[in-house]
Amino acid sequence: MQPSKKTVFVTGAAGFIGCNLVHNLLASDSYRVIGIDKLTYAGNLNSLAGVMKNPNFSFEKTDICDAKAITDIFDRYKPSGMMHLAAESHVDRSIDGPEQFIQTNIVGTYRLLQASREYVDRTGDKESFRFLHVSTDEVFGSLGADDPGFNESTPYDPHSPYSASKAASDHLVRAWGDTYGLPILVTNCSNNYGPYQFPEKLIPVVILRCLRGEPIPIYGKGDNIRDWLYVGDHCSAIQTVFEKGTSGQTYNIGGNNEQTNLDLVKQLCHNLDQIRPRDDGKSYEEQITFVEDRPG
Ligand code: NAD
Repeated sequence: MQPSKKTVFVTGAAGFIGCNLVHNLLASDSYRVIGIDKLTYAGNLNSLAGVMKNPNFSFEKTDICDAKAITDIFDRYKPSGMMHLAAESHVDRSIDGPEQFIQTNIVGTYRLLQASREYVDRTGDKESFRFLHVSTDEVFGSLGADDPGFNESTPYDPHSPYSASKAASDHLVRAWGDTYGLPILVTNCSNNYGPYQFPEKLIPVVILRCLRGEPIPIYGKGDNIRDWLYVGDHCSAIQTVFEKGTSGQTYNIGGNNEQTNLDLVKQLCHNLDQIRPRDDGKSYEEQITFVEDRPG
């Protein structure tokens, strides 16, 4: 390890965005990265296989709700900052079982904030330490067809247990900044796509179902609008905010790429029609089926 490298914690390192971020940070050659992850169903250590032997990477299998274990990791590695991505992240699962979302997204974030605050107090390192909290634009609710995009002053309007738990965690992070002077940053980003995504999310679901000849479910009429952001661009933005952002600020990160779900699914079908045509010569669009939208 080069002494000039900054040590940074990445929670949720074995998840979709976390593992991409770990790869990006190590490639930038400026960081020693400590990945922290409980390895829930959503965590996959294979996503980190390429960096496991990198001397600038260490992995800690730990629950962010475990205050003692987190304090111990702080004392062992003495980080200059934390990029907090660990979360329960799937909206449908939050509707079926909200408890774990409250635990990880709210209580877990609280435990990390407390551990960071105590660590900064112990080391007196308030100037250089940074706590960057990665959140979602779903805290702002949903957009109508003619609405302008969300910005950093859009009022919070969460509707699902997932988005409500993320909104709560955003408020906690800002409160720890305002009340205790912890140097914090919050980012709210739109839907990510790209490598290592868990196959239950929209784009992988559509591709897998197309290829398996299964129905492609679309909620409601498919007119929900989402902005889509390439995960590599998101990770670059996280690194930029971490390095150059003003403490206490919130930064929205989007792809300027808004589409209805139906248009997105049709685009995926069209792309697959070109690169992997169906045996019967018909379009994958034939597999689209409309299902009842989720509550909230
Ligand atoms: P993911 O579900 O793929 O990964 C989450 C990771 O967190 C998993 O590896 C899981 O094992 C880990 N984890 C869960 N509970 C934990 C706990 N108690 N302790 C330690 N680790 C735990 O999620 P993702 O898509 O990579 O999202 C990462 C972050 O980005 C989340 O905070 C999410 O809210 C936010 N976000 C994601 C998107 C998106 O499109 N994926 C969009 C906006 C914001």
